[in-house]
Amino acid sequence: MRYFVGIDIGGTNIAVGVVDEEGNLLRKLSVPTGASRGQDALVADMIGSVKAVVDVAGLTLSDIASVGIGVPGAVTPEGVVIRAVNLGWKNTPLAQIMGDALGLPVYLGNDADCAALGEVVAGAGSNCSSALMITMGTGIGGGFIVNGRIFSGCTGQGTEPGHFTFLYGGEKCGCGKRGCFEAYASATALIRQTKRAMEQNPDSKMWALVDGDIDRVNGKVPFDAAKLDDGTARAVVAQYIDYLGMGIAGMVDSFRPELIIMGGGICNQGDYLMIPLNETIRKYCYASDEIAPPPAVRATLGNDAGIIGAAMLQVSQEKSKA
Ligand SMILES: [Zn+2]
Repeated sequence: MRYFVGIDIGGTNIAVGVVDEEGNLLRKLSVPTGASRGQDALVADMIGSVKAVVDVAGLTLSDIASVGIGVPGAVTPEGVVIRAVNLGWKNTPLAQIMGDALGLPVYLGNDADCAALGEVVAGAGSNCSSALMITMGTGIGGGFIVNGRIFSGCTGQGTEPGHFTFLYGGEKCGCGKRGCFEAYASATALIRQTKRAMEQNPDSKMWALVDGDIDRVNGKVPFDAAKLDDGTARAVVAQYIDYLGMGIAGMVDSFRPELIIMGGGICNQGDYLMIPLNETIRKYCYASDEIAPPPAVRATLGNDAGIIGAAMLQVSQEKSKA
């Protein structure tokens, strides 16, 4: 059995785990990211965490085949972080720095791509080899796995499912463009849609759920109020699911994955979201009466997906050569 270490650099924590070649997470630990401390401190913490988690797993570094790192930003196949805005990194040769310190091969991937890979290796997509993962959070993240391998595109930066233009001249997106999918279907977009509806409907039950304070609206509020049969909330939720399903249907028509894996806190709504979402995808997909759209299912690994996917970067790349 070969063992790998996966590192997921999140905004709050750096999570590090030992994973076997079947994608089982054996041990993990996490340390605060503290990105403001600068690159050297972060790298030192990652090196220390790798050694610590390997030790906790009862192994030594010589038992580890490679280290994989999921980076919140763009990386090259050669292991350079081109840009990671939230970390303040630019053109950082992270694979070389980590590799020299640990004496191990180091692979880099985009964090959303790694989460998608983790779900396909060991989570919701473990029975398939090609899946599209969409995570609705502050923005929309995602990754596309084809035949067990991250689809990185010809420039190596992977896909940006949150930033295809969903509506010409539409809402302003954080990326600077207009009408991006994430400006309609991220958790942030849902919150904005909810606030607008509340302002237009002072009688909505959503006001009571936030004690009259609109700043307390989160992505759960419209769903909670819709379940209380609040008409305004039901309309917000229906419109949101329509946006989400229409965008996903566009990606299905473009790429025909076997499965759509959905991540993010909104998925905690379970069937209340997933049943109408699957119906909506079917409604907007090309020829769905003749060609069944792939099912959309919830991710199952939560935050562990990023660690497992990062750890599996070497295995995934070996597959591509096979
Ligand atoms: Zn955008």
